[in-house]
Amino acid sequence: MTTYDKIYINGAWVPSQGKGVLEVTNSATEEIIATIPDGTAGDVDKAVAAARAAFPAWSNLPKETRAEYLMKIYAGLEERTQEIAEAIAREVGMPVGMSTMIQVGLPKGNFAIAAGLLSTYEFEQQIGNSLVVREPLGVVGCITPWNYPLHQIALKIAPAMAAGNTVVVKPSEVAPINAFMLAEIIHAAGVPAGVFNLVTGVGPVVGEAIAAHPGVDMVSFTGSTRAGKRVAVVAAENVKKVSLELGGKSPNLILDDLDEAGFAKAVGAGVGKCFANSGQTCSALTRMLVPRNRLAAAEQIAAAAAAKFTTGDPFDAASRLGPLVSAVQRDRVRGFIQTGIDEGATLVMGGAAVPEGLDIGFYVQPTIFSGVTREMTIFTEEIFGPVLSVVRVQSYQEGLDLINSGAFGNGTAIFTNDGG
Ligand code: NAD
Repeated sequence: MTTYDKIYINGAWVPSQGKGVLEVTNSATEEIIATIPDGTAGDVDKAVAAARAAFPAWSNLPKETRAEYLMKIYAGLEERTQEIAEAIAREVGMPVGMSTMIQVGLPKGNFAIAAGLLSTYEFEQQIGNSLVVREPLGVVGCITPWNYPLHQIALKIAPAMAAGNTVVVKPSEVAPINAFMLAEIIHAAGVPAGVFNLVTGVGPVVGEAIAAHPGVDMVSFTGSTRAGKRVAVVAAENVKKVSLELGGKSPNLILDDLDEAGFAKAVGAGVGKCFANSGQTCSALTRMLVPRNRLAAAEQIAAAAAAKFTTGDPFDAASRLGPLVSAVQRDRVRGFIQTGIDEGATLVMGGAAVPEGLDIGFYVQPTIFSGVTREMTIFTEEIFGPVLSVVRVQSYQEGLDLINSGAFGNGTAIFTNDGG
């Protein structure tokens, strides 16, 4: 077990003002693998003060110098790829091969892309008689979820820091180990003190303190719609800029103009996009809308594709579907599966029972429902687990109506031969 007993403020590891700790769980073994500080609003005050103090010098550095720092962070991530991939495989549950590609590959890409953009991005543009100058905002507060934990942090801080902002990051308390590794990398890269600050803790305390802080110029939040609404309310008090990336229930509309092979490909790809990261993806294609006359074929192809998602230990090379992140998440998802059954959807495969032989770990069976209708809970609510709902539709128009009837928008896929 690792004890992280400090947070990172003003270029140094310092104790939190909070006396409590939060536990981090291995999602496959249910063991406690780390503790982190349960931070406070006072910690946020210190972090914001450091970020404000660092802002003038950081934003005035030549952009080439900021790009060099970002590339040093990239190199640090590259060097520790295996270690980070394994840490995220433990705390989130994604199989380690995919974790290497996605959970470390994407963050690396974010730093490289932000650094690269600095060489071409026009911060100043002469338009007619006007000079348009794009300036950094100041201090950006970043609040992130656990599903792609390091990617979500990098996606916020790489462009923010590239543009000359300084940041205060509150990672998800459910999967924070990767954030400590990133802070170590940023420290080793010699990024000036105060440019990057890390405060751990729970959302209603540290997250809300960031959202409310008058010294934070913008808050960038990714997570559930519930918490995002709260962030918007709290941030409104001092009218700061707010960016919210929230929940999803993304549809995948498969049209009838596909031939048999094209249809099979579309259904198979849809299953893959639903089950990646055990369905814990904001843009997961969880609702598959298929032509009424091809429902049986869709069920069969989807079940065959889902059967290839071998469920098991993230460190077993055969596993394609790891456990869910936590007991809370597992219970929630199993509850949704039971509701689907109770409300009369047809269970094509899977179910609410624990997968055979996987009593320890937060595992859920890859599950497919068919005959799902717009009144059902599993059609409307974000499940955030490996659960696909197949819905039959009469026409393209009915498909669009169904898509637009939902409260959630995030990603949408349409499979067709007709580009128009
Ligand atoms: P969550 O909302 O529970 O937590 C996200 C972050 O917000 C965490 O750091 C948490 O501590 C913090 N938080 C919680 N309550 C808060 C509050 N009152 N004030 C401020 N911060 C608060 O979400 P999660 O369970 O970590 O992540 C899953 C959710 O995130 C899903 O709904 C998923 O769709 C969404 N998500 C969206 C995107 C996107 O780009 N749209 C990407 C990934 C995940």
